[in-house]
Formats: sequence, structure tokens, C-alpha cells
Amino acid sequence: MKNRKSWHIIILTTFIFLVLLLVIQIKWLIETAETEKRHFTQSVNLSLDLTVNQILSDQKLCSNIQMCLLDTQCMKTKALKKLEWHKIDSLIKSNLKFYGIDCNYDFELKFMSPDSTKKMLLDGKQTKSQDSVLSFQRGNIQIGIRLPEKASFITKRISPLFISSILLILMVAASFIFTLLIYKKAEKRAEVIKGFILNIAHEFKTPISVIGLANSRIKNQMEHPDKEKLNKYLTIIDSEKTKIEKHLSAILNHAYIEDKATNIAKEETEIKSLIENAVLNIETILEDKNGRIETSIQTNNIYLQCNKSQIVNSLTNILDNACKYSNGDLKIKIKCFDEGNDIVFEIEDNGIGISGADIPFIFDKYFRVSTGNIHNIKGYGIGLSYVKEVVEKHGGKIELFSKIGSGSRFRIYLPIKTDKAN
Ligand code: ADP
Repeated sequence: MKNRKSWHIIILTTFIFLVLLLVIQIKWLIETAETEKRHFTQSVNLSLDLTVNQILSDQKLCSNIQMCLLDTQCMKTKALKKLEWHKIDSLIKSNLKFYGIDCNYDFELKFMSPDSTKKMLLDGKQTKSQDSVLSFQRGNIQIGIRLPEKASFITKRISPLFISSILLILMVAASFIFTLLIYKKAEKRAEVIKGFILNIAHEFKTPISVIGLANSRIKNQMEHPDKEKLNKYLTIIDSEKTKIEKHLSAILNHAYIEDKATNIAKEETEIKSLIENAVLNIETILEDKNGRIETSIQTNNIYLQCNKSQIVNSLTNILDNACKYSNGDLKIKIKCFDEGNDIVFEIEDNGIGISGADIPFIFDKYFRVSTGNIHNIKGYGIGLSYVKEVVEKHGGKIELFSKIGSGSRFRIYLPIKTDKAN
């Protein structure tokens, strides 16, 4: 209980840390975007500053620009204008590149005459809107630059960081959810194992105390033995010993089949005999319950390569369950037929059925349906998981169709290895 509480505290604090981490990450990403914007503006300013410096230090360029600006009609200076424009353009481009800005731009160059009227150099390339316009002025020269790709350039720069942060957050969240699921599964398993241990303890406790009682009665008889009574006590001890042996063999059988390293010995087996042996094993229980069995075997001439005792045990387990979880008027149908490369064993009962929510866990080790009157029925929850292990070790599969109140239908598919001709 204490352990469980500390687990819940760990889960809650991890969740809170995760949310905090998410908030910090988002805040940090917004700040990074702002810093990138500032850095961008600074770099553009520096490159424009450099460009203006270069223009001012080039006497010829300066006088050409002035000449072009004064020639408002563009009569004589058209070619010159184009030439100077290209010069300035390539200066801006290389300076922007130098400061790490590699994106398209428009620019305009203004020359402030002494009477402070502004004139523009070249018409067609003037900046069209004030969006993302940065300008820089030194002396009587002003350069305005419009960078329409500014937003996408900044986005491109921060996107690897952004994507990796988001991925990291998603990965941490996924591993948190994964850990939570594992924990939930482990918790459920621990509960199921606890139930299994309690069941075992209960199943062994009764025969052991009955044996103890019979033993003390025998001791009391030592002085004046009554042969008849002694015989009765010895029979009780024998029958309780058989019960313990039966429980032990069920548990050991399961442990044995579970061992992955165990190689199962297979032999060529007639299918009919498998079903007959399994039915024989539950005969007394069936009689006790007044049950009926209908059998239909359509697999003449087909032999299975299988471990006979394991398959018989598996069929017995399913038949035994059909008897245990019956509704009163017990009716079991056994069908056996071939389908493709498989032999199908179908066992159907008209018992209490299994709910859809429990079906996915029904073949799990130690699992027992925990509702209704099933608590009163003895068992360890290892019968069906044994069946599944055996079937899978034979290269087959098992299916269950069931509904509460409508009985259950188990289907075992085993691959046919040998077609025996007479
Ligand atoms: P158990 O020893 O408890 O019978 P099993 O592994 O054989 O263990 O079965 C697991 C659980 O599946 C049972 O506890 C029971 O709740 C349910 N179950 C198995 N067979 C049937 C059936 N034919 N009808 C209804 N419930 C069944």
C-alpha cells in the first residue's frame, strides 16, 4: 500500500515536471524567436552600414549617383544608372551574405540634397510596401531595404531547434505514458499473482488440515485400534493426498510448458483418440453436473504430429472449464474438422460466458474473471494460459468467442504436418 502511494506520488510529480518543462520550453522558444529577430535586424543594419561606407569611399560611384539623380528625365544617364545600380546591388548582396543573411530583397537609395529634398535612384525597384523595411542613413545617403522573406528566413533558422524541442517533449511525454502503462500492467499483474497465491494457499490449506485431523485421530486409536475407523482415516488421507498431487501437477505442468527451452516430444497421433481421452478425463464431473456432450469429428485419415498428453490436457482444461462455469443445464458441443492446413478443435458450452472486457486477458497467466459468483469456483487462472502455451508450441493458435450469458466457444487451430494415407 505504502509502495503504491509512493508510486502515485512519483507519477504525479513526474507529470508536473513534464508540464513545467513544456511551459519552459515554449517560453524559451518564443524568446529564441525574438532574439533571432533582433539579430536579423542588427545584421541587416551592419551590412547596410558597410554598404554606405563603401559607397562613400568610392568617389566615382558617389559622383555618378549624384549625376543620375540630377538627371530626372533619365535621358543621358540611363545606361550609367543601370550600371551603378548593379554595383550597389552587388555590394548589398555580398555584405548581407557576409553577415549571414541570404534572402531576396528590394532596395532603394535616397540621396539627400542640400535643400533636403529626397530623390530616388532608379524607379522600377523601389520598395513597394513598408512591410519589413529597414533603412540606414549616413551623411546624405539613405538606403532602404525591404526583405519580404524575413519571416520565413527566421523561421527556417529556428525551425531545427523548434522541431527538435517539440520532438524531445513528445518523446519524454511518450516515455512517460509508456512507463505509466507498464506500471499499470505491473500493478494489475501483481494483483493477479496475489490472487493466485491466495488461491494456492487456500487449496492446499484444506487438505493439509484434513490430513492433520485424520492423523491425530489415528494417533488416538493407537492404544485400542478400531480397524474400520483406521481404514476410514487412511482413505481420507489418501484422497486428500491425491487432491494435493492434482494441484501440484497442474502448477508443475504449467511451469514446464512455460519454459521456452523445453522441447516438446511429438508423436503421430490419431485425432479421435485425443478427444476421447479428454472427454474421459471429465466424465465424473460431467456426471455430477448431469451434463451432455455432443461430438462431431470430421477428420478421418488425418493424423497430427503433437505431444499427445499436452493436447489432451489442453482439451481437458477447456472441457473442465465448460463444466465449472456452467449455468445448470450443461451442454457441450465438440467439433473437429480441417480448415486449410489446420485441424480445428471447437469446444462450445452454454455456460455463463465471458464479457468482452475480460476476453483480451483470458489467456494471461493467473487471470481469473473477478465478478459474479465465479469467486466460488475453484481454480488458479493457469488453465487457459497453459492451453495457449501448448497450442503456440505446436505452431497453432487459439481463439475465443463469448458473451456474458451466451456461453463460450473456443477454437484451437493446429497445423497438419502429416497426411497419413492408409
Ligand atoms: P481457472 O483455474 O480459474 O479456471 P483458467 O485459466 O482455466 O483458470 O480460466 C481463466 C478464467 O477464465 C476463469 O477464472 C474463468 O473466469 C474464465 N473462464 C474460462 N473458461 C470459461 C468458460 N467456459 N465459461 C466462462 N468463463 C470461463
